[in-house]
Order: sequence, then structure tokens, then C-alpha cells
Amino acid sequence: KPRLLDDEEGGVLFLSSSLSSSASGYGYASFEKQRQRLPVYKYRTAILYLVESHATTIVVGETGSGKTTQIPQYLKEAGWADGGRVIACTQPRRLAVQAVASRVAEEMGVKLGEEVGYTIRFEDISNPDVTRIKFLTDGVLLREMMDDPLLTKYSVIMVDEAHERSISTDILLGLLKKIQKRRPELRLIISSATIEAKSISNFFQSSKRRRVAEDEELRSRLEPAILSVEGRGFNVQIHYMEDPVQDYVQAAVSTVLLIHDQEPAGDILVFLTGQDDIDVAIKLLTEEARSNGKNSSGMIILPLYSGLSHAEQDLVFSPTPKGKRKVVISTNIAETSLTLEGIVYVVDSGFSKQRFYNPISDIENLVVAPISKASARQRAGRAGRVRPGKCYRLYTEEYFVNEMSVQGIPEIQRSNLVSCVIQLKALGIDNILGFDWPASPSPESMIRALEVLYSLGVLDDDAKLTSPVGFQVAEIPLEPMISKMILASNELGCSEEIITIAAVLSIQSIWFSGWGAQKELDEAKLRFAAAEGDHVTFLNIYKGFLQSGKSSKWCHKNFINYHAMLVRKAVTAGFFANACRLEAFSHGGMYKTIRGSQEVYIHPSSVLFRVNPKCVIYHSLVSTDRQYMRNVISMDPSWLTEVAPNFYQQQQQQQQLRNPIIH
Ligand code: ADP
Ligand code: MG
Repeated sequence: KPRLLDDEEGGVLFLSSSLSSSASGYGYASFEKQRQRLPVYKYRTAILYLVESHATTIVVGETGSGKTTQIPQYLKEAGWADGGRVIACTQPRRLAVQAVASRVAEEMGVKLGEEVGYTIRFEDISNPDVTRIKFLTDGVLLREMMDDPLLTKYSVIMVDEAHERSISTDILLGLLKKIQKRRPELRLIISSATIEAKSISNFFQSSKRRRVAEDEELRSRLEPAILSVEGRGFNVQIHYMEDPVQDYVQAAVSTVLLIHDQEPAGDILVFLTGQDDIDVAIKLLTEEARSNGKNSSGMIILPLYSGLSHAEQDLVFSPTPKGKRKVVISTNIAETSLTLEGIVYVVDSGFSKQRFYNPISDIENLVVAPISKASARQRAGRAGRVRPGKCYRLYTEEYFVNEMSVQGIPEIQRSNLVSCVIQLKALGIDNILGFDWPASPSPESMIRALEVLYSLGVLDDDAKLTSPVGFQVAEIPLEPMISKMILASNELGCSEEIITIAAVLSIQSIWFSGWGAQKELDEAKLRFAAAEGDHVTFLNIYKGFLQSGKSSKWCHKNFINYHAMLVRKAVTAGFFANACRLEAFSHGGMYKTIRGSQEVYIHPSSVLFRVNPKCVIYHSLVSTDRQYMRNVISMDPSWLTEVAPNFYQQQQQQQQLRNPIIH
């Protein structure tokens, strides 16, 4: 929780969340002036003309030039939302959806959720009767296609942040290209912060289209238009490290202190990778600033990552009080999705969390990996918004020049495709391998995904969705394994418990990770810990939560244990592919996955850490120095062949083929 410390106490000031947001103090007129100062304003007429005359318009423009907040408003002003139609603008990130929607509502002087609304998974702040501009994640728009395959209520769909090439963006682009054939009046705007737009333009301009369109006018309408918004960024001086750093979190903290000590006023934006290292950095920075004394007074240290509350988000966007310096420690969400005013210094760790998938071992990881040159340039650009700035790269120039890749790899080429395949199937796209992708995923990942869905009973022998299971699983907006788990729980009579667990598994973490409150957190975990594992612990928490409302006493332990057995079996039904067997007690318990013989370990955050049951099922893997299983539950191996006979028999046969000597 943000705390308020006075300067003597530590020199670090946390704004209290009651601080007013950026909106107060500005009137409507002042918003109008701000809007006209944005680079995109000069292109208003051009954009509207291109959208009118082309099916697809690609808008390339620097971060902060006004693409996201302004273009939907221009479209509305030009009448694209008349007659009950809706303008959609998609974002890859939930937090960005919330932030831009509330900004646009503010600029238009309307209440969020009415004329301007947003939808992210599990949160719908829109009203079908009155919402005319709707921000949503690309994943949510894909879901909407299940009810309305041609997305008929939308007149214009703006696919924003296309350069990020998120998996849902790529699927969406492929599907929108198909929809355009059936709905010639639909307009697409694809906006991107980098010239990477070229490949997307090529995608929308396939030679087949040109052949089909014989008459001149139709052809020019089908050609995508490209418009480049000239930014007005200031020069950014780049500083490199002389030698590679060992610990980028520590290096980032030292750099911030150095800037604060030696550089003139101006806010600092630090790029780290995720909530975990951001929390560590904030703790270190607070401690070191305190021990340094005077020189560090006046820093306002704020985190920025998805999962922040609305109040915490507001703090990040609020203007820095005079004489203070804001230090925002962020994931790569501030790279292009969100613009912070007043940033003059950028500290770039050179890393971000990225998804990597190995179809052979069927392991998907969120790993801390080096960013690309394109990302590094974007990050540096954040320092030149208001005046010339400086970017401190926590790596060497030699590394930047010789080792950083030019571009990132589209997410679809490094992801598990189970969810993607089931969604396409549900939309009636049967020939997945022949789908027109902006970038093709590997055939191995495709085949893996088909295999898993087949063994879950979601696809039949012809790779069509099974009825009813396949359709039911596709309809639940959760990972297919979780959906299957919920369906299985119905038969096993424990739906209520499983739905609670599924809910917990579908959010990032049920634990509040307070800054520096590790001990209290561990104690809380112990209070709720269940022998069966994390899944059941979640139930305990939920139960405690429910009961705390009525009576302070809650000790129905036996009752929970009785149910837990049923619950675990249902988890097994969904997640059997993630089963692992204990192999050795080395390093606190080494497990091997039953299907791929990968070495894995129980994550220290699990209540089963050091308990080491014989057989377990994990919910997800994270990889740091080793592969760790997160959210682990113990299980009886005999259940495997019971709940997933096809899968494990097939596995055994394959194993025999691979290791003929053993059998
Ligand atoms: P782009 O999409 O081209 O990166 P945006 O439309 O997001 O640009 O931002 C345009 C301007 O609006 C920026 O100058 C930014 O500072 C301002 N802005 C956007 N969101 C907010 C917000 N939540 N609070 C304050 N200012 C904002
Ligand atoms: Mg934007």
C-alpha cells in the first residue's frame, strides 16, 4: 500500500491514493486545447478521408502522438457511430484498455461506461444501448465473434498496438481479413508504433485480392492505405554501461539514485520485467534512499504493472508536484501502450517477460528474456516527450550493436496454441493449418495443440469440436484445461469448489504481495495451507472469506478434506497432461513430467514445497534457474488412466517406440 513518509524519515514520499487525478483542475476547454496540440490532430482530415475510401488504413505514429485516444473520437465526430453503430478499439493489455478508456471518457466529458466504455475479461464497463466507443482487449473481441461472427455492430475496428504482434492480435487480423470479404462496409484501422507495419500491409494486400478486384475503384479500396504521423520527439542521449551488469535490478536502483543526485528535475521511467522484480526494486530504492539521507529527498516511487487498482493507476498519471521527482518502475506496458507525461530519464534493463513455448517438451514458460533493438529504441523514445532527455541502458553498446535482435518474434510463434486452436474451431475454421496467418505458427505447435484437445475429448477423430463437450469447453472463457476441469466437476459433484478454484487459477495471484511483507504473507499462507496442495488452499481461503462475514469461527477441516479428494480428481481430469512423478529428493525434490520426462521442481511459493508428494499435477510452469511448478496438487497416479485413458495409453506406446530397449 502506498504510504506517506515525511522527508526526515526517509526522504521518500509516496503519494497517498487520495491525491486527485490529472483531470481535476482542467476544464473541458483545456482538454480541447490539449487535443489540438497532439501530432495526430494535423492528420485528422487525412485519416477520415482514408478510412472513408479504403477498407483498411494503417496508421504509424510515435507513442504519445494521439493515435489511441484521438482516432476513435475523430471517427465518432465524423458520424461512424451514428445509427447505433459502435467504434471498437482493441489493445493487447487489460491495463491499457482501462487507462485509455477512462482518459477518452474524461476528454469527452462523459461518464465511463456510457458513451465510452470498455470490456476486459471478467469486467464489462459498457452498455450495449448507449456505448458508441468501446475499448476492449483483442482477446475479448475474439470472444465476441462466437456470438456475432461478422461483428456486425461495429462500423470501424481499430486494432491498436499491432507492432506488438500479440497472439490475439495476429488471430484477430487473420479473422478480420476474412470478415472484410463478407462485410465490405466494415472499416479497419491498424495502428502501430513502428514501421513494422510494412509486413501487416503486405498481409492485407495479398495478390489474390488484387486479381479478384478487376475494376479500378474496387481495387484501390482494397489496397491498404498507410499514413505516417510525424512525431515531435526530442533528442535522447543514450548512455551505455562500460561492462555488463550482474544484477539489473540493483543496477537500475543505483542508476536512479545517481540520476536523482546529479541530474536536473524531470521524472524517471525504469523498465524492469514484472511485479516481482519491480517490488524488489522499490524496496531497495526506498531503503537505499533512506540510508543516503538528504540527497534523495523528494522521490515519489510508483510501480506500474497490470493488476494495479484504479487508484494506483491514477497516481502514475497524476502530475508531479513541484520540487518532486516521480520515479515510475514499470513493465514494458509503458513502452508503447501508455504515455506518461514528464518523463525525461529512462533506465532500460534490456529485459522483458516473454512467453516461450517448446512444442517438443510441451512446456510454455514466461521467461525474462532480452528485448529487441526495436523495443530498446521505443523505450529510449519515452525520455524525449517534453524536452531533450537521457536514456541509461543497463547493457554495453557492443551488446546492443552486435547481439540484440533487430525485431521480436511474433508471440504466435512462441506460444502454446491450445486456446487459439479451440477458438478458431469454435468459429467454424476447420482447416487450421491452412488459415491465412499474418505469421504462421510452427506445424509442431499446431499438432501439439490438436493432440491435447483430442485427448481432452474436445476434438473428435476428424478434428471437429465434439458435442457437447467441445462446444461447452470453447464457450467458457478460460483455458481449455480449466474449462474441462469445470465440466468434469459437474459429474463428480464438486462444481462449486472447482469453480472457486478455477476462478483463483484464472487470476494472476490470490496473494497480495505487499512491499516487504514477505513474513506476514508466509504466515497467512500457513494459516490456510491444505495438505492436498495449493488448489485446496484456495478453497480454504474462499471458505474463510465467506464465513468471516457471518461468524468468526471456521474450522470445518474434516469436511474440507472429504471434499478435497473429489476436487483433486476433477483437477486431474483437466490437467492430466501436467502430471509429474517424484524422482529424487535432490534439490528439495526433483520431479519428472510423466509425458515428457522433463526435470521440474515445486515452486517455493507452493504449500507443497518440501512436502514432496509422490505424484502431483501442476497448473503452470515458470522457469528461472530451473523449471518450477506453480500451484501444485497431489494426486493418485491410478486416476490418470481412469480420467484420460486415450492420453496415457498413447503416451505409453510412444514411450515404447522411443525407448525400445526398456520394454
Ligand atoms: P498514442 O496512442 O499515439 O501512443 P495516446 O493517444 O495514448 O497516444 O496519448 C495521447 C496523449 O494523451 C499523450 O500525450 C498522453 O500524455 C495523453 N494521455 C493518454 N492517456 C492519458 C491518461 N490516462 N492521463 C493523462 N494523459 C493521458
Ligand atoms: Mg496508443
